[in-house]
Amino acid sequence: MKSNWFLLTLCVTAQLIYGQETAQVHQSGDAVKLELPSAINPLHLSDEEWKKKLDAETYYIMRERGTERSFTGKYWDNHENGIYICNACKLPLFKSETKFESGTGWPSFYDPLRKDVLSVAKDNSHGMTRNEVLCARCKGHLGHVFDDGPKPTGLRYCMNSAALEFIPNGKLKLK
Ligand SMILES: [Zn+2]
Repeated sequence: MKSNWFLLTLCVTAQLIYGQETAQVHQSGDAVKLELPSAINPLHLSDEEWKKKLDAETYYIMRERGTERSFTGKYWDNHENGIYICNACKLPLFKSETKFESGTGWPSFYDPLRKDVLSVAKDNSHGMTRNEVLCARCKGHLGHVFDDGPKPTGLRYCMNSAALEFIPNGKLKLK
């Protein structure tokens, strides 16, 4: 029992520390505190390294700019309070307070947790011009941003569930 608990703690800690160069992770019991780094240091891994770290679906979405089918991901209908982090490098990206019902079948937010946790790039694929949203640290593809969102920003960050990991309140606290 004791060794099981130790292994669980080790897994959770390793998962949250993974890829974080400057974030500090503190753990006591079930709660995990994660400090958002003051500056985002880019994380570069080769395709081979990403393939080893990510499951096939996450690799397809995040490294090959894939899109999951709407209403199939695990977070479009998630109403719990907490924080959404990058599923590849674990950088905190969105708070549940900024998630809204877009009706699209993808988890949608009107504001990131902090402006510099996201990068935006022009995407001209599929005969459209869209703004692609990437994790600022690992450059993993997250989704797209549109200008038909609700107030106060008017933006709609349309994300793939597979590019996110949800940490419920109480499990992770931003310092
Ligand atoms: Zn990332």
